Amino acid sequence: VMREKSSILETLNKAQCRAVSSNASTVAILAGPGSGKTHTLTSRVVWLVDHVGHRPEDVLVATFTVKAAREMKERIGKALGDGREKKIVLGTFHSIARRYLAAYGKNIGLNQKFGIADDGDSRSIVTRICKRLQLNVDPPAARAWISKKKAKGTEASATTSRRQAAEKAMPGLQDLETCYAEYQAHLERSNLLDYDDLLVRGVELLRKFPSCVSNIQSVLIDEYQDTNGVQYELMKLFAQYHKRITIVGDPDQSIYGWRSAEIRNLWRMLRDFPGTDEISLEENYRSSQSILNLSLQVIQQDKNRYQKVLKPVHNRGTRPVLRRLKSASVEGEWIVSEIRRVLLMSGSMLNHNDVAILLRSAALSRHIESALGKAGIAYKMVGGFKFYERAEIKILIDYLRVIHQPENNDAFARIMNVPKRGIGDGTIKSLVEEAETSSLSVWNLLAKHCRGDRVAKTKLTKRAEQTISGELLRMLNGIRKKIEEIATGTPFGLVEMMEQLLTSLHFQKFLQDTHPDDHEQRWANVQEFISLAADFVRDLDRAGDDALLPEIDGVQQSKEVDVLPQFLANISLASDIQKGEDGQEDKPQVTISTIHAAKGLEWPVVFIPAVYNGSIPHIRSEDSDEERRLLYVAMTRAQSLLYLSCPNYSSTGNGERNELSEFMAPVSAAFAKKGPCFDRPVVKEMAQILGRELPSEEAIFKGLPPMSYTEDSLFPVDPDEEQRRNANGDDQTNNAPRPKRQRISGPGGA
Ligand code: ATP
Ligand code: MG
Repeated sequence: VMREKSSILETLNKAQCRAVSSNASTVAILAGPGSGKTHTLTSRVVWLVDHVGHRPEDVLVATFTVKAAREMKERIGKALGDGREKKIVLGTFHSIARRYLAAYGKNIGLNQKFGIADDGDSRSIVTRICKRLQLNVDPPAARAWISKKKAKGTEASATTSRRQAAEKAMPGLQDLETCYAEYQAHLERSNLLDYDDLLVRGVELLRKFPSCVSNIQSVLIDEYQDTNGVQYELMKLFAQYHKRITIVGDPDQSIYGWRSAEIRNLWRMLRDFPGTDEISLEENYRSSQSILNLSLQVIQQDKNRYQKVLKPVHNRGTRPVLRRLKSASVEGEWIVSEIRRVLLMSGSMLNHNDVAILLRSAALSRHIESALGKAGIAYKMVGGFKFYERAEIKILIDYLRVIHQPENNDAFARIMNVPKRGIGDGTIKSLVEEAETSSLSVWNLLAKHCRGDRVAKTKLTKRAEQTISGELLRMLNGIRKKIEEIATGTPFGLVEMMEQLLTSLHFQKFLQDTHPDDHEQRWANVQEFISLAADFVRDLDRAGDDALLPEIDGVQQSKEVDVLPQFLANISLASDIQKGEDGQEDKPQVTISTIHAAKGLEWPVVFIPAVYNGSIPHIRSEDSDEERRLLYVAMTRAQSLLYLSCPNYSSTGNGERNELSEFMAPVSAAFAKKGPCFDRPVVKEMAQILGRELPSEEAIFKGLPPMSYTEDSLFPVDPDEEQRRNANGDDQTNNAPRPKRQRISGPGGA
């Protein structure tokens, strides 16, 4: 046993070992980026299953993104080596709560066929309500208020009543409350849960029926700094039987304050669970010294932070680069030329997969995308860009939603006249209103209408009536019947069903007619959507990815056999889905990601464009400290090379010159004066940091194409850096006489 034990602990440092094998019931690891928190958490899961003897299905792990969940499952799988990881309850808080509600929600009166209203859905429902009732509130603000209100609903009454008293004086409160009530009524009518409901109803379920989680032995949570109050409640409830919790987090990386994440929950946890084993990890294994030091300088501008030690284990590496460029489009071109240069100079040690471009907001991607596209560099987009937001995909999703839940009025209203069926907007609107006032679904209203029951007051033209009864309802009903017939037992053919839908809708022709210019691209997106569905079904088959929760005495359980609701939930919850990720793994791609979605990840080469005031800190952000933490998160993703840039003019701006981000100005001395130099020692240091093999000298300089860069970007060597190297004689490991520094200059290169 001892030998086996050491095999997990072998690669860990002392503090990490202690954290993995701690016997304390609650363990808190607070440490900086790249210190191995996630690695340690993963190892602890393996430890609990392999050495403590927890059954995998009794371990619950919450991560922050779907991607992180998938990666963690893979790593645990590798360590366990026998497929047991599939049984671990692992996912985001939302997806885990959804699973519990799907399995046991019946007990709290939930209709098991509930659908999920994602952020976009919620926003448009609220907007419509505000318009219809002429409420004097700003819809996004109302949405945020409702969300906060729901989250607070689970809190102890003392704090709530204090808050309520404070709120009484708030202007527009009456309208907000009306909006909330209408919104909630709407969700209930449509049998939808929004993101907040998933958590809040989850809390309700686990409070009323604690035995649902009686089997859970250990609860482990990554990125704990971004949990909000409801998630905290949920965590405690998951752990209510055995009270074994491990959390890892970093207050400096708290970037979800705008979603009510509260750092307070960290201190609350330490107070609620006295005797917590607090462990700090002090070594950064991810980044070069210069990247880490620069990042620390940025975060240390915040004087009120929780201080931690974080030391680099790696060599100094080459200095980060800060560049000002003429415009946003030049910035895009510069990034492309740097990517090419870096990959070439690395002598195929690096490929496109090693490069990420991290953006403060998704809207910044246009220039980057177009520059990469022009240069023929393959890329994938992560977070906030939403493949599922594309018009043609949204239509199909709405059809699937209606097939799953005919009472989903929003989705039904959107597809009623798409493709065109001669039903006017006005008619749809009055149908929806009529349905809402009569508490019927639009579907039922129409079904009755078409049967000749004159319940509907809204007049439909003969043609509309015919197409609705003759085409739409019949087709959708046909598909729904088919689902019901096959629903018992194995997952039915989701893909076949979707193909049938496309055929019935003449979807390809519809795209040709409506989008003569780019229908091919749109049809390709549809094909991609189908292949995502195919992947989803395959995953379910292979892994029981959503392995069924256990049967509990005295608690009713529904078994989720339909794959459609699971697929839809997956779409609603996977806001960080990647377009083109699956099936294209063989082709290296540059990653374009929002900073939020890049949390927890790392890349050898990282670009952070648009580092100017208004972008970061963002113009609409009220919390400058959170913006700084966001920049810190972005910078600490980089392992070897970090590039920041600031275009003088942005394309969408008002023509005023951008000011360098206020976070950058105080540290600008730490940057390389020019681009990073690429000589042998630099490549060697990179190989060390990344743990990769050092390419041969020839490989590094082989095959350089004729250069078309402007003078300025010609492999310049940072003079300071050169001086430092010469002074230190950095290349100590190599006793052979140092080859003459090879520097490339002038067109034609080597
Ligand atoms: P973040 O705060 O950004 O989420 P983290 O603390 O979770 O960072 P990890 O992602 O777990 O850090 O680890 C960062 C990198 O360091 C990973 O590549 C990991 O494999 C590596 N690493 C962690 N611990 C060790 C160790 N003891 N020895 C060598 N490499 C390690
Ligand atoms: Mg991590």
